[in-house]
Amino acid sequence: MHTFLPIAYFKNQFVPFAEANLSIATHALHYGTGAFGGLRGIPNPENSNQVLLFRLDRHCKRLSSSAKFLSYDLPADKIESIITEFVKKNRPERSFYIRPFVYTSDLGIAPRLHNIEKDFFVYGLELGDYLSPEGVSCRISSWYRQEDRSLPLRGKISGAYITSSLAKTEAVSSGFDEAILLNSQGKVSEASGMNIFVVRNGELITPGYDQDILEGITRDSILTIARDLEIKVVERPVDKSELFIADEVFLSGTAAKITPVKRIETFEFGTTRPITDRLREVLTAVTENRDERYREWVNTIDIG
Ligand code: PMP
Repeated sequence: MHTFLPIAYFKNQFVPFAEANLSIATHALHYGTGAFGGLRGIPNPENSNQVLLFRLDRHCKRLSSSAKFLSYDLPADKIESIITEFVKKNRPERSFYIRPFVYTSDLGIAPRLHNIEKDFFVYGLELGDYLSPEGVSCRISSWYRQEDRSLPLRGKISGAYITSSLAKTEAVSSGFDEAILLNSQGKVSEASGMNIFVVRNGELITPGYDQDILEGITRDSILTIARDLEIKVVERPVDKSELFIADEVFLSGTAAKITPVKRIETFEFGTTRPITDRLREVLTAVTENRDERYREWVNTIDIG
């Protein structure tokens, strides 16, 4: 069970988390017509009266775009100011995760996005490691990543997560930690809730935006950091067989941060991972506001 932050934003006001409840007839619950965000924050290790949020602007922009797919106009700056207020009210003392959610809040049946009430809520929970930082084993899922012609993959649409859920459960029930999904073209797309990176011959390779991936914000941060470190970066289609012979493979996401992959199916990777380790070191320093170069990615919120 999670430890939830005590205050939620629900129906246009801040209320105790336990009072933020929905009806069983809520439209989005039935049709998956919601979209969410997920961002991390930590108490500032250098100032206990402050909280640090990582790439708040990008997360709010992505949620605002997701809301557009639901025919809901929710400006990014509005989300940003509600999240800032949310953090001030909760005064989190440990590493945490914020989950903002837009959804069709109407009570009633018939899948649609027009002539229907929508709403927005925010809650949070304490969150340490989502996957083992030591590394995970992965299976290639028998479920394929959806295609953009069937649903908007640039949004974090709640209904889309049935595929992630099937893939994750299939992986765990067959003895693995995580699933890697191919796309409809049979190329590597991403994991159940993370983007994927491969290192071969000193080159950092990741499937591009045309490979039916979610436009991950951690992925974007890693690409920028890698380029700044003068690591050669390539965004291109990745074949399944390339995964098996890679020098290093890792997953990236807000919850998972950078998680090394130890094994894919029967293929084991070495325990020396110079590029994964280097990127992880810098990303950790960035999120803790210890790296001058990326200060603009970190929002400092006074809670004192
Ligand atoms: N892919 C999927 C399907 C996800 O749910 C996530 C987590 N949001 C990611 C990738 C990674 O995205 P981000 O780095 O923005 O958290």
